[in-house]
Amino acid sequence: MKEKKTIPQVGFVSLGCPKATVDSEHILTRLRAEGYAISGSYQEADLVVVNTCGFIDSAVAESLDAIGEALQENGRVIVTGCLGAKGDIIRQTHPKVLAVSGPHATDEVMEAVHAHLPRLHDPYTDLVPPQGIRLTPRHYAYVKISEGCNHRCTFCIIPGLRGDLVSRPVGEVMLEAEKLVESGVKELLVISQDTSAYGVDVKYRTGFWGGRPLKTRMTELAAAMGSLGAWVRLHYVYPYPHVDEVIPLMAEGKILPYLDIPFQHANPRILKLMKRPASSDNVLARIRQWRETCPDLTLRSTFIVGFPGETEEEFEELLDFVEEAQLDRVGAFAYSPVEGATANALPDHVPPEVQEERLARLMLLQEEISEEKLRAKVGKTMTVLVDELDEDGAIARSAADAPEIDGLVYIDDDGSLEVGDLVEVTITDSDTHDLWAEVAK
Ligand code: SF4
Repeated sequence: MKEKKTIPQVGFVSLGCPKATVDSEHILTRLRAEGYAISGSYQEADLVVVNTCGFIDSAVAESLDAIGEALQENGRVIVTGCLGAKGDIIRQTHPKVLAVSGPHATDEVMEAVHAHLPRLHDPYTDLVPPQGIRLTPRHYAYVKISEGCNHRCTFCIIPGLRGDLVSRPVGEVMLEAEKLVESGVKELLVISQDTSAYGVDVKYRTGFWGGRPLKTRMTELAAAMGSLGAWVRLHYVYPYPHVDEVIPLMAEGKILPYLDIPFQHANPRILKLMKRPASSDNVLARIRQWRETCPDLTLRSTFIVGFPGETEEEFEELLDFVEEAQLDRVGAFAYSPVEGATANALPDHVPPEVQEERLARLMLLQEEISEEKLRAKVGKTMTVLVDELDEDGAIARSAADAPEIDGLVYIDDDGSLEVGDLVEVTITDSDTHDLWAEVAK
């Protein structure tokens, strides 16, 4: 018989003034609404929330004593309330507390509770499955880690539409990723407007996941996600210096050796007009270094051609960069004046026919590069993830291919493969974008 899951129980200690009491009521309401039981004893509780007061010295002492008692009697304690605003005092006196937040912090308390005591999924009352409702196939899923963007690239209106960067709490992101992997997801695709900025808005705050502290920062998040046993693919990584830190994780096989990093252009003047980081020499040196650290690295980037004011020489500089960088995947777009973008006010817009001609030249060059790179894979053995079955066998992707945007690996097979399988194949043929393979012997 299936084991009955027990309802998670939270103990609650509420100290302080009526405002603190109201905070406690909010937290208790949320806990009950989410199906947690409120326990009257330390022994039965799975963890204890202590809502503290820090108004005068005696209140501080009382709060610290209450935390100490909860730690001694139960061991798993989340602290919130006025004394929580002075987190140092609490952490110095009681370093074992699981999380600390200030007053009126219901969301943060709930986040800590979720991280340390996941709530039960109730199929009768919960309208969504534990891993959420997804539009992607069962074996891969997008995980959005933040919303908005602090940059002001002149061709883009996203910050105007979605506002400045707001990072999701790291514990919440990890819990979601964990549930996805538990539900059978084999590949997590990390997305945002600016993945490498993750945590900047919260000063890389330390959150919690599985009882351990975890910084709200791309490198730490990538390493933690990499420990879940699924493929982890990073998208939309703005070329900040600390991107260098994730390359060793790729070399060690913790996350996929795949970096989707939009460079947009190579000419310093155009990059400056775009308000993007402006040093293609530096970028080329970094790419060399990345490949030295992680020879299997797949680099994907996007470029805008025909940006206002782009001269033929400046475009050729971009072509030289693309030739030199030998990127694996490139998406290119002719500049188009999106309503509200500040670049629209720049002088010397490039005529559409010139834009199209430049786009075609760039894509032609990249096709040659791509063809050669894929040809070099023939004869190699690699792991691929099966996306679909067809009459000839299966359609899959390698570590170098993100769904929808990159290439495919067509596997000749007699029907033994299933969607979602990770399988070793030997590459037998290639063209400009895709590979053909057979299951490795
Ligand atoms: S292009 Fe990307 S980095 Fe630049 S403003 Fe838009 S969302 Fe932000």
